[in-house]
Amino acid sequence: MNNKNNEQIEILGDNHFSANTETPLRADAFDKSDDEKIKNIQHHFGMIMKEMGLDLTDDSLSGTPYRVAKMYIKELFYGLDPANRPKLSTFNNKYGYKKMLVEQNITIDSACEHHFLPIVGHAHVGYIPKDKVIGLSKINRLVDYYAHRPQVQERLVLQIRNDLQKVLDTEDVIVSVCAKHLCVSSRGIKDKNSFTTTLEYGGCFADKAYRDEFLTIIGQQAV
Ligand SMILES: [Zn+2]
Repeated sequence: MNNKNNEQIEILGDNHFSANTETPLRADAFDKSDDEKIKNIQHHFGMIMKEMGLDLTDDSLSGTPYRVAKMYIKELFYGLDPANRPKLSTFNNKYGYKKMLVEQNITIDSACEHHFLPIVGHAHVGYIPKDKVIGLSKINRLVDYYAHRPQVQERLVLQIRNDLQKVLDTEDVIVSVCAKHLCVSSRGIKDKNSFTTTLEYGGCFADKAYRDEFLTIIGQQAV
């Protein structure tokens, strides 16, 4: 890879461009079992550590390739696998509740796909029920699922909104994420205080009055 390519790669990462609403996955993404993936990543991460000059026979370091591999597949990036998507059973809206429902301060533990560094913050989700409602904790679980992928924040809010619109059978969904990116605070510009807000909505939230009601409820959330 020449220097020009490396420079373009850095620029793309610093600008956090994303080309697609869907997470770019290979066609064979789930042909291998989790155990096979952990074994392979363990090998490759060990090679990275070796290349950096680290002594893998050291007691403290010897288990690191396995720990990282297991953490990637089972924890940080479990949301890549559609088999791990939470089951979102809906209920009839028997109360006839037709006003805004807001689930706020949902923890975001994600990682940026350009640097594999943490994105931490909160999501706020609002919707106006039609005939269907879901259990409140299911919204938290869905947010957690989409967050646990290599992500860009713009795609994260889109994926959550699109899925909820389908499940709830209504366009009237709004999703906001406020988060800190460690790739902005710990490298590059090294800004410790800035955070990023993204907002996606559909249906009646295109109307400013609805958006304002939602934004007033969530307030100015510090991350
Ligand atoms: Zn990044």
